Amino acid sequence: MMRKTAFGYSTRCNIRCEHCVAADAIPDNLKMELDQAKEIIAEMAAAHILGISFTAGEPLIYLDEITELIKLCHQEYGIYTRIVTNSFWARTPELADNCIVQLKENGLSQLRLSYSRWHQKNIARQNVLNAAQGCQKNGLDYFISFVTDFSQQDDACEQYLRDHDLIYFPEPVIFAGRAESFDRLPIHTDYQENCCLMNPYLAPSLDMYGCCDAGSHFTRTNFFHLGNLKDSSIEQLLQKSETNSLYNHIRTLGITAIASFAGFKAREIIQYRKCELCEKLFNSPDMLAMLQREAHSGLNARYR
Ligand code: SF4
Ligand code: SF4
Repeated sequence: MMRKTAFGYSTRCNIRCEHCVAADAIPDNLKMELDQAKEIIAEMAAAHILGISFTAGEPLIYLDEITELIKLCHQEYGIYTRIVTNSFWARTPELADNCIVQLKENGLSQLRLSYSRWHQKNIARQNVLNAAQGCQKNGLDYFISFVTDFSQQDDACEQYLRDHDLIYFPEPVIFAGRAESFDRLPIHTDYQENCCLMNPYLAPSLDMYGCCDAGSHFTRTNFFHLGNLKDSSIEQLLQKSETNSLYNHIRTLGITAIASFAGFKAREIIQYRKCELCEKLFNSPDMLAMLQREAHSGLNARYR
């Protein structure tokens, strides 16, 4: 398994999106010290992590510090790097160029630009366009992460990306954090596997989680909490993630088959979003205890 991780340098953000999953359960002003982040990256390199995605709040509030970390990853360790950003820094094409050139010259591999009807209440969509076109112009790989609840309200947002011929991937809004109370539109998906790669996420508090999306919100069971770097090494926490039987069932068997094993009807399963179904399974102490008992027996027999 190729080791990759999401790296939360700071939880601080300059805007407050209504749908933000990285909010409310955790303080919004946690930040690592730069020297500490450098030491952690050295430890990650020693543990053969080959890709780091800088995420959490808005990383580019700390542009110069993140640039130093990107340079370290690239020049010292040959680590692939990505930054997830809301493009606040790209108000004009010139400002976008300045930032992109700085990051590219220091070795950044890719920018992931967040975009949605919620982000764009705070950041003009022109910023995202400036950032994407700046990447095209300066030869930096990018894509737009188009967060959507698949309602018709998002058609105009999507059309804007098409009209400008931008590379984007729709991503379902995760109903956790501030989006926990959002109305859910009824959906019916295919009966699909719903496997997850489960890249770990390191928070500025030095807690590491087995999943970087909704997983840190499973607070009834702390199912995805791997531990804290104050008590364990990166290598120990990664091994914990890679050898956890239920995590491996999520990676290979998928959430859908686990839910079926747990007694969910097929008709019910297709009405859930993936992370919601995951929450039903792994954030319930009783259900989790049953699945842990079955991890090496009943669940193993489910492979086809
Ligand atoms: S979704 Fe991203 S840009 Fe919006 S508040 Fe959360 S961290 Fe900031
Ligand atoms: S389904 Fe579970 S493991 Fe997969 S992304 Fe959602 S919370 Fe994480």
